[in-house]
Amino acid sequence: MTCIFTISRENLCNLVVMKEKTMFKHPTAIVESEEIGEGTRIWHFVHVREKAKIGKNCTVGKGVYIDTEVEIGDNVKIENFVSVYKGVKLEDDVFIGPAVTFTNDLYPRAFIWDDDRICYTVVRRGASIGANATIICGVTIGEYAMVGAGSVVTRDVPPFVLVYGNPARQEGFVCSCGRKLDRIIREEDEKLVYACECGKEVETRK
Ligand SMILES: [Zn+2]
Repeated sequence: MTCIFTISRENLCNLVVMKEKTMFKHPTAIVESEEIGEGTRIWHFVHVREKAKIGKNCTVGKGVYIDTEVEIGDNVKIENFVSVYKGVKLEDDVFIGPAVTFTNDLYPRAFIWDDDRICYTVVRRGASIGANATIICGVTIGEYAMVGAGSVVTRDVPPFVLVYGNPARQEGFVCSCGRKLDRIIREEDEKLVYACECGKEVETRK
């Protein structure tokens, strides 16, 4: 018996759209969570633990480890070999460079562990962390802040602030587009307003 299927152009388009929206998992990845958003791509040798949440349209690069109960928003990009431990939250549009390491215990001992020791870290919307940086737990990295490659972050980073070094120190401000800001166009009581080449104005605290 011969069976011939026909499919309309409209249905074919829907199929393609559905395929793009579904999450992609490379066959070598171990994904124990079911809370992975549409359009998210999980690459070679990634391990996502149970109860981790990953939003829509994220990229999780080769060899990344996502611990249990980690929360990751939408459009987050995590480059190769990053470790994200329990107690870390990454909001939407965050960029995590290759080999960045998060921590979750300020005074670790191999022979003592319970959840009371977890020290929480938040990376706010749009922030970027450069390659090989280490984020000591208990800090908040503000919206659109930028951490230079190889930095060791030991305290909070305010929104739109650029930090680098060990320990990471404030070295200026950045725009949401990622450019460093150096042109002040207005100065108010507690604020400086910078203009970026991209046309945006960014308000910062003095
Ligand atoms: Zn800009």
